[in-house]
Amino acid sequence: MPVSDPAHAIEGHRALLLAWYHRAKRALPWRESRDPWAVWVSEVMLQQTRVDTVVPYYHRFLERFGSPEALASATEQEALALWSGLGYYRRARLLQAGARAVVAEHGGVVPADHAKLRGLPGVGAYTAGAIGSIAFGLRVPLVDGNVERVLTRLHGLSGDPRTPPLRQTLWALAARYADHEDPGSVNQGLMELGALVCLPQNPQCLTCALRDPCAARAEGTPERWPEKAPKKVPRAEAWSALVAKSEGKVWLVESPRGRWEGMLVPPMVAGDAAALLSSLGLAPERVQRRGVVTHVLTHARMQITVYETALDGAPPHARLYPLAGLNAQAVPTMTAKVLEFVDGVSTKPPRRAGCRRGPAP
Ligand code: SF4
Repeated sequence: MPVSDPAHAIEGHRALLLAWYHRAKRALPWRESRDPWAVWVSEVMLQQTRVDTVVPYYHRFLERFGSPEALASATEQEALALWSGLGYYRRARLLQAGARAVVAEHGGVVPADHAKLRGLPGVGAYTAGAIGSIAFGLRVPLVDGNVERVLTRLHGLSGDPRTPPLRQTLWALAARYADHEDPGSVNQGLMELGALVCLPQNPQCLTCALRDPCAARAEGTPERWPEKAPKKVPRAEAWSALVAKSEGKVWLVESPRGRWEGMLVPPMVAGDAAALLSSLGLAPERVQRRGVVTHVLTHARMQITVYETALDGAPPHARLYPLAGLNAQAVPTMTAKVLEFVDGVSTKPPRRAGCRRGPAP
């Protein structure tokens, strides 16, 4: 699906966009730095996560891991502990793998080269575009959900942007926009317009800097772009978890695999009480059912039936952790929810408000 807008049309749109961006952009901490490592950390954290949620994590993470070398030499547990509560923990592991590759292959310096950035573990087209354009001024594009929405509406592009023909068109179109002396501002301007003005519902067309050339505004129903197929409903999963405490401490297991690999979770199984008790070698009379906690992930809706017990010995593979010190450990939000449900002990800072790219787990 080629986009036939002549170069002068793109130039005109870009000029309007940049004038608006420089006037209206939010003061965000990662915009105060062109350090490629800081840009990289912020972009990874912002994937699928709200801006207000990211800000304190960004400061804490960079305070402890101020360079690729600092993260590369840390343990995975240390990295996950500072990511704890942000969700999508695979991002933290890939960031650490990327940092280690920077140390091993590039002398600890983030390469100012798009192909080399793309060659780093965990750095896809979007992240390479962000680091390249924002930190190094490379004329490289990026396309995220916000850019996708702005460009499909502005140019009236039909089709599902998750499918190849439109996906390729969007990247090619974004590349035409990024071919500018300040590609970092162009790319951030497209994302910022999508985050603040060209909203999924009720886009602010009346005050939008691009209202005059916008095809979707002229057509009258901008919300119908992008034409995405409906999202799949998250599958329902039934889990059972055991909370076993002793004198201000709780038994937790380091998850060996799966969505919380390496993080601390209560002893739990996919299935009912019988499966849980059998896995732990416990008799039914030793546990008390406390209720059900719902935890929604991108692809799954977990219904976790929580049981409590006063144990004499350790559950298999579990260790005792002080409840008061859990916020310094790699504890996913699911674990925090289960513990808070049982006894109201908060292990996490308050979470989430304001949005850049959608909900987090
Ligand atoms: S005019 Fe409306 S639909 Fe077009 S880019 Fe602006 S906010 Fe989006």
